[in-house]
Amino acid sequence: MATEHYFTKAVWETHAEPTPFRALPGNIEVDVAVVGGGITGLTAAYNLTKAGKKVVVLEGKEVAKGTTGSSTGNLYIPIGERLFSIAEKHDEQTMHEVALSRKTAIDFIESCIKEHSIDCEFKRVPWYLFTTPETSKASDQVNKEFEAAQKLNLPVINTPPEGFPFKVDSITCISDQAQYNPLAYTQQLAGVVARYGGTIYESTRVTEVKDGSPCEVITNRGVVRAQKVIMATHSPKGIYAVHTAMAPYREFVLGVKLKGTLPKPGIYWHIHEDTLYSIRPYSGPQGNYLVVLGRSQKVGHKKDTEKSFKKVEQYLEKHFSVESIEYVWAAQNYEPVDNLPYIGTSPVQTHVYIATGFAADGLVYGTLSGMILSDLILEKKNQWAKIYDPKRFTPVASAKKFLKDNIDVARHLIKDHLIYGEIKELKELNPGEGKTISIDGEKVAAYRDDNKSLHLVSAICPHMGCVVHWNNGEKSWDCPCHGSRFSVEGEVLEGPAYKNLARAEASGNKKTDNK
Ligand SMILES: Cc1cc2nc3c(=O)[nH]c(=O)nc-3n(C[C@H](O)[C@H](O)[C@H](O)COP(=O)(O)OP(=O)(O)OC[C@H]3O[C@@H](n4cnc5c(N)ncnc54)[C@H](O)[C@@H]3O)c2cc1C
Repeated sequence: MATEHYFTKAVWETHAEPTPFRALPGNIEVDVAVVGGGITGLTAAYNLTKAGKKVVVLEGKEVAKGTTGSSTGNLYIPIGERLFSIAEKHDEQTMHEVALSRKTAIDFIESCIKEHSIDCEFKRVPWYLFTTPETSKASDQVNKEFEAAQKLNLPVINTPPEGFPFKVDSITCISDQAQYNPLAYTQQLAGVVARYGGTIYESTRVTEVKDGSPCEVITNRGVVRAQKVIMATHSPKGIYAVHTAMAPYREFVLGVKLKGTLPKPGIYWHIHEDTLYSIRPYSGPQGNYLVVLGRSQKVGHKKDTEKSFKKVEQYLEKHFSVESIEYVWAAQNYEPVDNLPYIGTSPVQTHVYIATGFAADGLVYGTLSGMILSDLILEKKNQWAKIYDPKRFTPVASAKKFLKDNIDVARHLIKDHLIYGEIKELKELNPGEGKTISIDGEKVAAYRDDNKSLHLVSAICPHMGCVVHWNNGEKSWDCPCHGSRFSVEGEVLEGPAYKNLARAEASGNKKTDNK
């Protein structure tokens, strides 16, 4: 078994219908402009359109094909950092509110599917958090999560069901969670928004948002004037205080065919070697697959991201009998310092709303954000707006992680500039490699493709000036500070940066160097 091609598409994309939305034709005026057509933006647009607001969704690429379409489609009340951590960092009441709000969001998804006959393979399944004998030292966490679930009156037991595919040391099982095809759901939700009278534009990249009355949303296709703007771009574009209060991580996913039958449907979270592997058996029109995600790592912090894919592959080899690897992909999360996402207006803005810091729990948090933000805009009371408010200040809950993440950013801002340049001459660069270099005093990110051609762009991230790092698994330039990522041509792929990496001045005469 070998992962020959890093980064294919997510398993859901093979049978996805193309979406029919054109680009913004010129300047327009609306009540609400939603930037980003993922689950967050489309849920907000759905509620607002239904309530009679004139809404436009501006999507830079294609709806649902950002992180939402690269997720694993699990819908659960617990969170990756564990429910008990909310009680520890905040208090039991907050843990209770988090659980209730997440349950409400899952129920919202289910009723939306029923109401609009959305065909997305939704089903109720159990969720398992477990350790196996070789990782029994983490069983404390599993037991604490069991106690937390009991306190929350969730349908929980701590014994494995018959035929469980692992020999467990400790386990927490919560029934009545859910799974679906996240791409199919979100694409069809876009269709519902359009049928209700909302307008959706794809290939419409927002390049600036000006808060005001009205706000001005500048795009590559025209200007949108809107009373309110929802920044639903996963990490808000531009400079926001919340960027200092969350850290970007990449997650690595394989979709494989097994030699035998798939385990029973369920969300399997295996704590193994100090990391969490999330396993999902998936039977859909494409066939039967086991989707496994693990080895998350901070964006731009490891040179060899190929190794992370390999580690997931090794994990699979150890625990399952794999016939073939069919899908390999990665996607990004933003982990908040106090384990709660940021949903609402940011401290310096009045009419611009943000929703971010979902960690890997954002299909549910994204839905919840759509519900909360639409209520705020419609001036309806929402019982959870306060706990997720980006303006909350939680020094005790956040201090340790906040300091660590920001020392990390400062280190990259300073050290990467002081000790700059991985190679001295372009001829040191082999095909398939990306390295930083100084050319005539300019900091350049250089990539040599398999045909030996050079791709030279500025190595300085336009968001806040950090030096980008090479990601060899996905062949991209990644910023270690706030998670902006760029193609080898410098095009912004995701993250808070609005602008592309500048074209390197040196590139003019250095497309090839006869290496
Ligand atoms: C590998 C992986 C697996 C996951 N699995 C799960 C799971 O099983 N369950 C769960 O609950 N959560 C999961 N998550 C988390 C979840 O997928 C995300 O939190 C969620 O999809 C975020 O949705 P979003 O709408 O906020 O962002 P996105 O889906 O990323 O949508 C943002 C959109 O904004 C667009 N955009 C960006 N910039 C611009 C611009 N300048 N102009 C216009 N448009 C722009 C993008 O193209 C994109 O379409 C997972 C995450 C990862 C990384």
